[in-house]
Amino acid sequence: MTKSPLVDFHCHLDLFPDYVRAFAECDRVGIEVFTMTTTPRAWLRNWELAEKHKHIRPGLGLHPQLIAERGSEIKLWEDLLPRAKFVGEVGLDAGPCYVKSFEDQKQVFQRILRACNEAGGRILSVHSIRSAKTVLDMIERWLPPQKGKIILHWFTGGRTEAKRAVQLGCFFSVNHQMLHNPKNREMIAEIPADRILTETDGPFTKLAGKPCTPMDVTEVLKGLGAIWKKPVEDVGTIVFRNMMGIDAMV
Ligand code: MN
Repeated sequence: MTKSPLVDFHCHLDLFPDYVRAFAECDRVGIEVFTMTTTPRAWLRNWELAEKHKHIRPGLGLHPQLIAERGSEIKLWEDLLPRAKFVGEVGLDAGPCYVKSFEDQKQVFQRILRACNEAGGRILSVHSIRSAKTVLDMIERWLPPQKGKIILHWFTGGRTEAKRAVQLGCFFSVNHQMLHNPKNREMIAEIPADRILTETDGPFTKLAGKPCTPMDVTEVLKGLGAIWKKPVEDVGTIVFRNMMGIDAMV
């Protein structure tokens, strides 16, 4: 075990079969969690439950994969933003199943970035499947780093784009499945350690055939330890410090 508390800065606690129990378990262990919602409607019940939990931050989300059916919920999302410090899951997805709604996704994401810019002090977990360049273009245009902190979730945009994201002030949340790919490991090795966070994206990732829970971020710490050639405890300390830095910005 690491000495610093664990950090899972992108997961979906409300998509576990018993989400009330998932919240309670994270708080009992003392793991620091940024949990996503995929629609603003779901955020309300997550937010109410999180009020009773010290270590859980629920993100106000509108998932890019849901824009085709739920894009009109952007109005509700905007109404709720004054109450939400954390935003996610948001972003773009140009994968084969979702590319059809890409233009609508861009319109929604632009509204999200502009609203966060106006509100100030928000922390965003951003999805960028097959759309890293467009995501970075939009962040550069609509949300300067002093107005909001971007955490790129499961970023696979490659080394050039990762470098650009660092210049734009972005952070990166890394999960263990990403680390299976040597290209991703090379990319991560070039990102400054003070921009790295850990995530599971549970229940969507798996470990030993089972959906990952936030406690499985220990796997990511091991993977980062191999990249950085540091003991797992030191990696945990770095990630926890990075998380505290972001948390203090809002
Ligand atoms: Mn996710």
